[in-house]
Amino acid sequence: MQDRRQMDLKQNIEDAQYVLVGIGAEFAQRLEPMEQDAFYASLAAQARSDAFEGQIRQYLQFHYLKRHPDKRILDAYEQLTSLLEGKDYFIVSLCTDDLIYETGLDPSRIVTPCGGWRAMQCGRECVTDQEPLVTDENVMRELLSSIDGCDGELDAIDFPVCAECSAPLWFNQISAPEYREEGYLPQWQKYTRWLMGTLNRKLCILELGVGMQFLQIIRFPFEKVAYVNQRAYFYRVHSRLYQLTEELKGKGVSVPQNPVDFLLSMGEERKDDGNH
Ligand SMILES: [Zn+2]
Repeated sequence: MQDRRQMDLKQNIEDAQYVLVGIGAEFAQRLEPMEQDAFYASLAAQARSDAFEGQIRQYLQFHYLKRHPDKRILDAYEQLTSLLEGKDYFIVSLCTDDLIYETGLDPSRIVTPCGGWRAMQCGRECVTDQEPLVTDENVMRELLSSIDGCDGELDAIDFPVCAECSAPLWFNQISAPEYREEGYLPQWQKYTRWLMGTLNRKLCILELGVGMQFLQIIRFPFEKVAYVNQRAYFYRVHSRLYQLTEELKGKGVSVPQNPVDFLLSMGEERKDDGNH
C-alpha cells in the first residue's frame, strides 16, 4: 500500500521550485559495531593513553567507515538521489561519515559543516606557508593501506604528519582541536546565496533525522525559513523528535519514523510499481 505521506512528499518535491534538505544524526552510520570488532578493539586498546590517542581513534573510524560502509544508509541516499533528480536542491548535513559523497548526489549542492574524512589538518595553530588543509587522496589511501597491513600492531601503522610540526594530523572534523572551518566555508557561502534565492518561491523543506544537535545549523534556521516563506512546505522526519512548532501547523507534516527506514520504504514502493 502506498503511504500517503510518501506520495505527498513525492508530489510536493515535484511541484517545488527548490528543495532544501537537512540531514542529522539519525542518518549517520553508527560506530558501535566497530567497538565490538576484535581488530579495531585491539588497536584502540593499544592506543589508550598514547599521546596521539585522539588522532588514532579517528584513523580507526576512518578505516572502519571506508571498509564497512552501511549498505542501508547508502541505499537510502540513492532513494533521496532519485527523489531530487532534476531539482534545484541544496543539502546541509551534520553527518561526518561522508557516506553522502559516495552516492549520486551532487557534491556541489552539499555542505557538511561538521567536516568529515576528505581533508586533514594539524591540531595546533601551526604558523605555516602551507595550505591549512591536506586534501591529497594519496595520504588517505596510504593511511588506509597502512591499517590494512598492520597485522593488528599499532606500531606498524604510519601516521600522516604535519609538514610543519611533525605531529600526527587530525581529520578536518569539528571534534579536532583548532577545527579549520576552511573545509566547509566555501560551500556554506554557496548555500546561503542559494537560500536567499528561494525567498517566496515554492520551496520544499525535507528534514531527515536532525534532532537537537547543533540547533543553529539546521533545526532553527529551517523552521525560520519555513515560517517566513509563504510558499514553503516542511517535512520533518524523525523517530522521536518529529514535532513541528505551533507556527508551522498547516505548513508541514511530521513523520514519526527513522529517516533511513522512511526513504527505503519509498524505494520498495518504486520496485512494486515496476512489477505491475
Ligand atoms: Zn603542525
